[in-house]
Amino acid sequence: MSRTDPPAPSPRPAPRSPPAAAPAPPGERVFAGIAIAPGIGIGPVFGAAEPAVTVTRQKIVAADIAAEGARLEEAVARSRRQLLKLRARLDALPEEGSRELAPLIEAYLRMLDGSRLLRGARARIATTLIRAESAVAEEAEAICAIILAMEDPDRAAQERRAAEVREIAARILRNLTRQPFQNFAGLPEGAVLVAEALRPADAALLDPGRLAGVATEEGGAEGHTAIMLRALGVPAVLGVAGLAAAARPGQVVLVDGGAGQVVLDPSPPRLAAARRAASAYARENQRLARLRRLPAVTTDGAVVMLQANLEIPAELPLVTASGAHGIGLLRSEFLFMNREGLPDEDAQTAVYRSIIEAIAPDPVTIRVLDWGGEKEIDALAAAGVVAEAREINPALGLRGIRLLLRAPALFETQLAAILRAAVAGPTSVLLPMITHLSELHQARAIYERVARRLRRRGERIPERLPPLGVMIETPGAALAADALALEADFLAIGTNDLSMYTLAVDRGAAELAGLYDPLHPAVLRLVQFATEAGLRMRKPVSVCGEMGANPAFTALLLGLGLRRFSINAPAVPRVKQAVRAASIEGAVRLARRVMDESDPARIRAHLAAAQGGSGPG
Ligand code: PEP
Ligand code: MG
Repeated sequence: MSRTDPPAPSPRPAPRSPPAAAPAPPGERVFAGIAIAPGIGIGPVFGAAEPAVTVTRQKIVAADIAAEGARLEEAVARSRRQLLKLRARLDALPEEGSRELAPLIEAYLRMLDGSRLLRGARARIATTLIRAESAVAEEAEAICAIILAMEDPDRAAQERRAAEVREIAARILRNLTRQPFQNFAGLPEGAVLVAEALRPADAALLDPGRLAGVATEEGGAEGHTAIMLRALGVPAVLGVAGLAAAARPGQVVLVDGGAGQVVLDPSPPRLAAARRAASAYARENQRLARLRRLPAVTTDGAVVMLQANLEIPAELPLVTASGAHGIGLLRSEFLFMNREGLPDEDAQTAVYRSIIEAIAPDPVTIRVLDWGGEKEIDALAAAGVVAEAREINPALGLRGIRLLLRAPALFETQLAAILRAAVAGPTSVLLPMITHLSELHQARAIYERVARRLRRRGERIPERLPPLGVMIETPGAALAADALALEADFLAIGTNDLSMYTLAVDRGAAELAGLYDPLHPAVLRLVQFATEAGLRMRKPVSVCGEMGANPAFTALLLGLGLRRFSINAPAVPRVKQAVRAASIEGAVRLARRVMDESDPARIRAHLAAAQGGSGPG
């Protein structure tokens, strides 16, 4: 499929809620969003239909009433947060769209505030002893039956009211059951996915070969959905206010992932220009593909290691085609997503081994599970590893290594699987979200204990244990990098979280995207400090956040001392080109100029000047 295939008519159902409200105006409509993954996609809108939430009546015992009530309150709170986010975006909509949607969202919000629906659902949990899902579904149907039975000459208004009740009940039910919001079954080849939001777990289900592009209302530049789309090489724009409500299924849409622009019903001249740009982009990619066999070496002979990040096995062919020297960050979260139970040791071993074998003799760094923050994994809640009730501040809560140390069975199973798979090729193990040296101590003790146990069991594992490294992704870890580097076998700087925690900006929030800036001097100083600390201890230091994938930043990162990059596979050729055009001498001079600045705008100007005027993203 070409990303620029002419659109085919699509019989898809209506896009997600809120329902399409604005009538289709004549002519094209242009929306701005956050440029996520370059490339141009043209195709019919596919509004992924929400899977119907089927609720079977489940009884509880009296002792569970409070817990069920708490689950209901949690789902209501999540629903409220989602709607408040949508309401906050209304200002960015054209007036007519906002006029249509505002009362609808207000009605939904009212129903989340002490409405008959919630009072009734609470009462049903307590009196009929049923689970919260059943209580919400039954109460919603009872209310709809009453509304529709009333004598009212305005039948359409009655049906609208009933539909609103069903809609808010469906939102609460999805939040209670944590069901995926999307259903990609039947996504027509060459379509553009348009949605209110796309969770990372849902993005993991996408088949990049079938999709022309993705555009959603929610999402920030470095959220995991963005990372996934970039890795899959799907043209994507996120944070597009008002799009899901304006788009109609089958309507032609143009997604320009490099410019961060989405156009509904693009005019013929715009379509022709987009097709020309798409061909030029494809030609450029072909030219870059020829770099595959050339080494990543600067003009003054410094060798740079360019590795790929991997989020789902579907990316493996892209990794091998990219010319990357192995995988520098295998995010293992995919193994735990979109499933009911947790994968056991054998199942994990088989997956890790197949990836290590596919990449060998190049190395693979497997990061142990980084659950938490925006990466929700329902199977963990279902298995009782984490509480179902969300933390108030999930990004500051039980994330990464913190969770693993509290769930030793989960941690040990994963370590055992990695150790068994590691006989298939060079492997390293990476610990996420380290903030205390003691976490590294504890993790290493568990790692060695697991290895001893496997040997006793007669399993084949490498004679020398694979190196154990730590992610530097919080300011605390960056500023303690000297102590961590003394004991860790390697450091991997995660600039995505490092920028988030340093600047106190949610990496996945569309509305704060302007404040999220890895070129902020505070972030750069932490990167510099951690890099120098690692190199002083003669430990390998890599950058594996998205910052490393921007060729405009390559010279700066080289100048700060970095020689290892792990980046999304499609970015490897461009970053290699930047490496081959740089000299370490020039890069060090650039880094000095940049590190003297306190204003990100001036830093960007230095980077643009160093590149001969083409500014960094
Ligand atoms: C990072 O935080 O930069 C990183 C590489 O980890 P993740 O994006 O998976 O949180
Ligand atoms: Mg991270």
